[in-house]
Amino acid sequence: MILELEPIFNNIGQRLDFEYQLALTDFPTIETPANIKGSVFNRAGVVHFSAAAAFDYEAPCDRCAEMTKRRFHIPIEHILVTALNNEENDEFILLSGMRFETDDLVREDIILSLPSSYLCREDCKGVCQYCGKNLNNDSCSCHAPTDPRLAVLRQLLDNESE
Ligand SMILES: [Zn+2]
Ligand SMILES: [Zn+2]
Repeated sequence: MILELEPIFNNIGQRLDFEYQLALTDFPTIETPANIKGSVFNRAGVVHFSAAAAFDYEAPCDRCAEMTKRRFHIPIEHILVTALNNEENDEFILLSGMRFETDDLVREDIILSLPSSYLCREDCKGVCQYCGKNLNNDSCSCHAPTDPRLAVLRQLLDNESE
């Protein structure tokens, strides 16, 4: 979306609200479009860009592989400047003009915030490594492979109790 920033830069206290849909077709895990809602405002001469991107994210759980959908709300907070004073800071966005195309900034912040690992739930039990059952829904009777020495001992004990 293109925002006309001149009135914002020229007037302390000025504010512009916006809301739009941004297509994110390059990302199969994101249900497109994302809803972008926010505002640009001039507070004491500093122009803030403050928005939130909301979208459904669907990906397989890293542990149990179950497809899991979750709503994401990504905050996008920046300060818009027309010149930089040697500051290298991700927070500052250097504008090339007073017509500001927001899409690249929003898209980049969304990509940076995507999780590198994804679980269906915090305490996902994963799948049994022996029978492959999803242990969140099912229990199984698999055991870790028995130490052969223990197996012999168990057999001795079994024989004794007979
Ligand atoms: Zn899981
Ligand atoms: Zn099992």
